Formats: sequence, structure tokens, C-alpha cells
Amino acid sequence: MHKKLFIPGPVDVRPDVLEKMATKQIGHRTKEASELQENIEKKLQKVFKTKNHVLISTSSGTGLMEGAMRSFIKEKAAVFSCGAFGDKFYKICKANGKAADICKKEMGNGFTTQEVVDFLKRDDYDLMTIQHNETSTGVINPIGDIIREAKKLNPEIIVVVDAVSSLAGMDIPCDEWQIDVLITSSQKCFGLPAGISFASVSDRAIEKAKGIENRGLYFDYLTLYKYNLEKHQYPSTPTLSHMFALDYQLDLILEEGLENRFKRHSELAEIVREFGEEYFKLFVKDPNYRSDTVTCIENNRGVDIADLNLKLAEKGYMISNGYGELKDKTFRISHMADYTKEDIVGVLEAIKEVLKLNGDE
Ligand SMILES: *Cc1c(COP(=O)(O)O)cnc(C)c1O
Repeated sequence: MHKKLFIPGPVDVRPDVLEKMATKQIGHRTKEASELQENIEKKLQKVFKTKNHVLISTSSGTGLMEGAMRSFIKEKAAVFSCGAFGDKFYKICKANGKAADICKKEMGNGFTTQEVVDFLKRDDYDLMTIQHNETSTGVINPIGDIIREAKKLNPEIIVVVDAVSSLAGMDIPCDEWQIDVLITSSQKCFGLPAGISFASVSDRAIEKAKGIENRGLYFDYLTLYKYNLEKHQYPSTPTLSHMFALDYQLDLILEEGLENRFKRHSELAEIVREFGEEYFKLFVKDPNYRSDTVTCIENNRGVDIADLNLKLAEKGYMISNGYGELKDKTFRISHMADYTKEDIVGVLEAIKEVLKLNGDE
């Protein structure tokens, strides 16, 4: 039986979107391929709320995260981390011989503007990374305010934002928030299979990359940009199947309307948070820092999460255990992409049945 996925990626893909993956292949150097990519780029610009170029990578989001560190760090990066995905940027820097300092927050918390500004004063950082949505803990960072103040302090800094688990589910106005590089993947709020990712890139960042050596080859943003600019093509052979599905799904996303989509995500989040507060505790204590795309619930009942998932599987659902050190101490329910209220109520009712939370059983 298929298990409906309430894990924070991959999520279920609509059958009509999935079907587009089976479109007959076309030559990747044809006019048709250029038209397909140009259409996708234009629609992605709307979702990103940006005039910047939006690059496509035939990889999951981590590829573009690595590419960004290689393409844009000249001196030293400041990595702001409030969980496993924040730490990932630091690991990427180290693995690529890039200098970086990490500023860590205790799990379950996000950054304040002041904390970021104070840390940036410690050295001459030429790039900073931060998660908009930290998927391991369900924390949202107030990046609009943070970036504004960071750029007041250091106008030259390149700001790289990981919005892999929130873009297209929450409002992230790229240009208004002055984001230089905004990265996301297909398998989360976009509701597509994994294997393609997107990043918008500012002109400032592109100019800077020209002065940086050893940017690598496959994930070099300058190369991706050049092909995008000249021909709306991809430097190697792209995953055309994903592009067919993406082109179609972007139409559905824009048809729903971005604001409606964000509102739906926030309403679904509210339902899950109410459940979490009634039967457990929410892991993120400050309401202002709670994600609208994934909720991390504190397992204060000592439920065996692996066993819960086995029983949910019999009912056709799958949720996510806590991430890394939060395994069994927390569990996560995602409410991203194309799910409806009925879907969310369905999984929550199933959890209640398995754990006999209804009281009347
Ligand atoms: C899923 C996720 C990633 C990793 O993206 P992939 O597409 O799996 O490579 C990075 N950051 C965050 C916040 C994520 O949720």
C-alpha cells in the first residue's frame, strides 16, 4: 500500500504532475529545450519574487549549497546554524577548503537580528549563510530583518539563504529581503520528485564570482548563469523529465495563487500545532519562530516513534522521527506542498487512533 508522506521531503506528488515525468524526451540543445527552460525560469522568478536570474541544477538542493560556497566565498564565511541543515553549510565549507566560522543556536531556537549582527562584527566575513526554515527543528528565522541589519553593517556581504523546505510554502520575497543567493529543492514545498533544484542569484554575486578561483565545475554558478543567459540551457544534460513536470506544476502553483498557497500552509500548520499542544508539547517554544511547513513535536509521552510509524503504515501514512540527536525525543509532521485540510486531519486522526488519544476507546 502507498504510504502518504508526511515527512519533510520527499512529499507526495499529484498524479497529474507525476504523469508529466513520462513525457517523451527532447534534445537538450534544441529550441524546444530552450523554450521549456525559459518558461520555467520566468515562472520561478514569480515564485521567488525576484528579478534575478533563477538557475536550475540537475541535483538535489545540496548541490547548489555546495556550489554557492565554492562560487562566492573569497575570504571567510559566517555560518549561522540552528540545526542539522545549518551545520551542513559548515561541513560543506570544510570539505571544500573554505574558511568559515559557525555560530550555533540551541536546537529549537532561531536567531535574533542582534545575535547575527554581533557575530558578524567578529571578523571580515564576505559571505553568510542562514536557513529560512530549519527542517530538523521546525524553526523559522526572521531573515528579512536579519539581512537588512547585516547589510547595514556590511554592505558587501553575500547572503546565501537555504529555503529548501519553505520556498513556495511560505512568503520569501527575495528582492525585498535583499537575498543574493536563494536556494530551494523540488521535493518539498514545490511538490515534485527529488532531483532538481533552483537558486536565484544577484548580479552582485555573479560579479564577485568572476574573481574567485577553483569554483569547481558541475556546480559553478558562473557556468550555470552563462548557459542560462545565453541560451536558456544547461551546461550538461538536464533532467528533462523533471523540467516537464516542473513547468506544469508551476502553472498549478501560480493558478492557486502564491498568497493562497501561503495561507493554506499556515492553516495546515495551525491544525498540526493545535494537535501538538493538546496531546504533546511543541518543540519550538517561541510562537514567532514556528514553521508553517513542518512541525516538530516534543515526545513528552515517550511514544515509540518507530513503532508508531509501523502502525501508521498499516493505515497508509508515514511521519518523520526527530532528526539526528532529536531522534525519539521529537517527531515531525510536514504540511507542505499540495496537501489539504482533509489530508492533515487524516494523518492526525490516524496518530490519535494508534496512540489511543481519543479517550473513548
Ligand atoms: C532537505 C533540506 C536540505 C537538503 O536538500 P536536498 O534537496 O535533500 O539536497 C537542505 N536544507 C534544508 C533546510 C532542507 O530541508
